[in-house]
Amino acid sequence: MQLQLLQTSDLDQPEVLRLKNVWKTYHGGHQAVKGISFAIRRGECLGLVGESGSGKSTLARCLLTLERMDKGEIWLNERPLHKLTSFQLRQARREMQAVFQSPSASFNSRLTIMDSLLEPIRCQNKGCPSFLDKSTNEREIASQLLEKVHLPANCLNRYPGELSGGQKQRVAIARAISVEPSLIVLDEPTASLDVSIQAKVLNLLKDLQEKLGLSYLFISHDLSAVHFMSQRLMVMQQGEIVDVCEGMELFAPNRHSYTKQLLALFDVN
Ligand code: ADP
Ligand code: MG
Repeated sequence: MQLQLLQTSDLDQPEVLRLKNVWKTYHGGHQAVKGISFAIRRGECLGLVGESGSGKSTLARCLLTLERMDKGEIWLNERPLHKLTSFQLRQARREMQAVFQSPSASFNSRLTIMDSLLEPIRCQNKGCPSFLDKSTNEREIASQLLEKVHLPANCLNRYPGELSGGQKQRVAIARAISVEPSLIVLDEPTASLDVSIQAKVLNLLKDLQEKLGLSYLFISHDLSAVHFMSQRLMVMQQGEIVDVCEGMELFAPNRHSYTKQLLALFDVN
């Protein structure tokens, strides 16, 4: 009985995000996102894969409300973001954090790592995250956060320019989890890193998701990375979701022809 409950627990989790029929057209008339709908449950990693230019980042920016969509609905924890005033939206947006492809662009080069890392906690007047040992000391909180992403505390006094790309991306991840958001959007978080570092960062992200019960939208052009990370994945082509599957269903013979093309391109196992 207990086991059964555990097995069905994912479906019992509330939805953190729901998109309904989202459209985005750029100036010049290019339709980058064409009527996309999906939902993410708490504790789930939903993957989004598609080749470069398919509209993944546009979709991510629309749902983060960094980009205005033409039409559609975005519900975050059952609140309709598409109906909020800009003040309400600023508050609601805090429930989402993002890690983007370029680690350098995510940091102010004049701020120390400690100041960059603590920016969201300070902005939101939050204290120590519940997953750390309780502390009121900022430096202690910051070093515990770094510990979660396997970086030494001596990074805190350094500047972004003194860290490698992989180290900066780890700090960006620590910063994203620091305010315990409902959803973290990861848009190609490893694409600019050396291949040898990519797997380590993916393992770290997966480990944090499992241990802290995080909800992710994980975006990549690399099907093997998306398959590794996600419980469920969506395939995007020219602004549309053409295929959705879970786990090993990816290898079923009746998959969409574009999914099969991606499977042939990437070493998925
Ligand atoms: P992906 O993240 O899958 O590579 P993007 O969302 O970045 O795709 O881009 C989707 C399409 O929209 C591409 O054809 C791209 O050239 C176009 N595009 C992206 N950003 C802009 C923009 N700011 N203005 C005009 N067109 C854009
Ligand atoms: Mg992109």
